[in-house]
Amino acid sequence: MSQEWVLVLNCGSSSVKLALVDPDSGERRLTALAERVGTSDAVVRLRRGDAEESSAPDDSSARGVVAHLMAALTHAERDGLVGVGHRVVHGGSQFSAAVVIDDATLVDLHDLVDLAPLHMPANLLGIETARAELPDLAQVAVFDTAFHQTMPPVAYRYAVPTDWFDEHRVRRYGFHGTSHRYVSVRAAEMLERPVEDLRLVTLHLGNGCSAAAVRGGESVDTTMGLTPLEGLVMGTRSGDVDPGLLGYIAERLDLDVAGVIEALNTRSGLLGLSGVSNDMRTVCEAADNGSESARLAVDVFCYRAAKSVGALAVALGGLDAVVFTGGIGEHSPAVRRQVLSHLSVLGLAEDPEANADHGRHTGGRVSAPGDVTAIVVPTDEELLIARDTARLAR
Ligand code: ADP
Repeated sequence: MSQEWVLVLNCGSSSVKLALVDPDSGERRLTALAERVGTSDAVVRLRRGDAEESSAPDDSSARGVVAHLMAALTHAERDGLVGVGHRVVHGGSQFSAAVVIDDATLVDLHDLVDLAPLHMPANLLGIETARAELPDLAQVAVFDTAFHQTMPPVAYRYAVPTDWFDEHRVRRYGFHGTSHRYVSVRAAEMLERPVEDLRLVTLHLGNGCSAAAVRGGESVDTTMGLTPLEGLVMGTRSGDVDPGLLGYIAERLDLDVAGVIEALNTRSGLLGLSGVSNDMRTVCEAADNGSESARLAVDVFCYRAAKSVGALAVALGGLDAVVFTGGIGEHSPAVRRQVLSHLSVLGLAEDPEANADHGRHTGGRVSAPGDVTAIVVPTDEELLIARDTARLAR
């Protein structure tokens, strides 16, 4: 049988990522990244094996860029495709798993735009362009929220007026679900225990950060909420703040609510606290070189992540393992050390040698032997999107 490939498309508000993924082995035949989409200096970088080429699309709109990427596929690459998998940020309460996209699904997806107005229009544009360019292939939507649809009401309801929930869908949804699902299955394999028996807290620490409580392979709680702004400290997002802050600072700075939310999304988090960068590597370097604000940013980041692990252990009714993933979780021994130092109360202790070593390649245990294990698991959302797509397309 010839090798089969899934085209995985992640169409964001200013960037488009594309990959041809073998759903069985995870091999990438091609990867492409388009940045500054929608501006006159949009650029597309395409990589096949070791060969990389850059080009500027004639039409730099998101639709033009996606069409440009599709046109770059060779006949051989198109012939091997079994389907197109789309990363879709919001599935509301309707979608608890990936779905094949038909006309009815598209109506449902358009209905969800209000819940994620920054991301859903770009996701939809990717779907509509791919449907037009590759009409014979199954198009599959894989949702960031779907994995968290197993949360019970006690975890997903806010204590706000009931009609906000009934009429306006105000509840906690959670995000990064594809990553939390992928690493919880991989963690079980690496721990050589059935996922059904495990109580895991998965810590996805990247530019965006969230933690999830995963019991028996199902999400029972998570830190992100109605939007990806709730929860942990992130690169540029504040995570949890007192909602009373909105009215107070809006008045002081003469901003409207949208202006305050924008500042909480784009000028807060590591960037806001450190005044240095949103990038953890740069912030850690500044902290090591004596910047007190950068040190505080790292300290707050780690403290808040650890505090969430404690809260999620309560949601789980106990804890078997903490899973570190995402760019920071996988690559920063210093952040893992600091998070683990707060978690000694739960029986966790760093294994300094393992922590310094792991994460660089395949991941592995980073804690000293004990009842609770800390483990690094490299995430691969594209692979899980490819697997969901291949399963539904076949
Ligand atoms: P995204 O959420 O956009 O997928 P990533 O998961 O790649 O992003 O995470 C990006 C974050 O990972 C950045 O803050 C970056 O500084 C951090 N990171 C990557 N490598 C390291 C490292 N060696 N030490 C500390 N932080 C790192």
